Amino acid sequence: MTEPTNRIAILGGGQLAMMLAEASQHGNESFIVVDPKTPGWTHKRVTFLQAEYDDPSALETVAQHADVVTFDFENVPASAADWLAEHVAVRPPALALEAAQDRANEKSMCAELGIGTAPWALIDQSDDVETAMEQVDLPAIIKTRRMGYDGKGQRRVHTVQEAHDAVAELLPAELIAEGFVDFERELSIIAARSVTGEMVFWPLTQNIHKDGILAVSIAPASVDAAVQQRGEYIAKEIAETLEYVGVFAVEFFDAGDGQLLVNEMAPRVHNSGHWTIEGAHTSQFANHLNAVAGRALVSPSPIKPSIMVNLIGDIPTAVHEVAKQGMDGVTLHNYQKSARAGRKVGHVTIVGDDQAMLKSRLDAWQQAVGIAYL
Ligand code: AMP
Repeated sequence: MTEPTNRIAILGGGQLAMMLAEASQHGNESFIVVDPKTPGWTHKRVTFLQAEYDDPSALETVAQHADVVTFDFENVPASAADWLAEHVAVRPPALALEAAQDRANEKSMCAELGIGTAPWALIDQSDDVETAMEQVDLPAIIKTRRMGYDGKGQRRVHTVQEAHDAVAELLPAELIAEGFVDFERELSIIAARSVTGEMVFWPLTQNIHKDGILAVSIAPASVDAAVQQRGEYIAKEIAETLEYVGVFAVEFFDAGDGQLLVNEMAPRVHNSGHWTIEGAHTSQFANHLNAVAGRALVSPSPIKPSIMVNLIGDIPTAVHEVAKQGMDGVTLHNYQKSARAGRKVGHVTIVGDDQAMLKSRLDAWQQAVGIAYL
């Protein structure tokens, strides 16, 4: 058995790192958070280190002062994660980051495991466009293989000419074409795996995206037990392949009749799991700390019906005001970020003891803030 650790380094200082620190409940657990920018938040257990992720002296400091390294951001250079892995426990392992950093790696892994995805083809040069479009069929989405998030680096195309135009715009980045999945809805599963290989799963969540960015999560999603089991099976296969330790998310397209196609996996706590702070007995953040620190996982159940609303761009004044007055079952999380179009600056979670209570609380909150999010 690995000894439990209490000095945790987090690469990336965004809201995920903030909520990890907030979830810390263990006596002398402390954090070193590395980020090239100074975060707008502070926490008594956190020391910030402002540095690039591959800065050698920052990596030395982390290796010296942390027992384990984890991530709020998956696009840390692989070389940095590999170097750290030679000096300190890195959880999830560098292998998992590498798999998730490249959409083609993710999809090849799914193919090897017999797990469905959208049809896909690689595009390395403009000459590949025609063959790729034949393979995936139009309409399609052309995406950069790396560094794409929240719909960035993606173009929807309906004709071969549009595909050529999109590719010309996105090259020289390595590209992937995906056939457009006519999904019924989008779902995700949050799962955790411990150092001993034990796993826990939260219920599937339904996610509604606007402009490629997650807008609302509804949990638990209304699915049959067999669909939940399939989601857990896929998460388990991926986690075991990657020798994963920590929390991760798998995003799915529900292609109808409960057929789950993997869109992508995130090797970290995930926006579609934020509802677990108020809506689950154990949050994704608490179990991520349990996993990376070498402790046993705690059951997520019981679960409360929950809705999470992302606040994108800015936090409306009315949302602040209602939160200040307080409303039963409604919690605002403010990421302490400046306002900017398309930026996730906070979220609100609404929970109820049952669906009827959740609905009446959602209605009351939306009426109080004067905005219809759902
Ligand atoms: P991604 O960055 O790949 O998660 O894409 C962001 C969002 O774009 C997804 O959550 C979907 O709403 C949509 N999307 C991405 N890929 C596809 C696809 N192959 N078919 C249909 N919709 C997609």
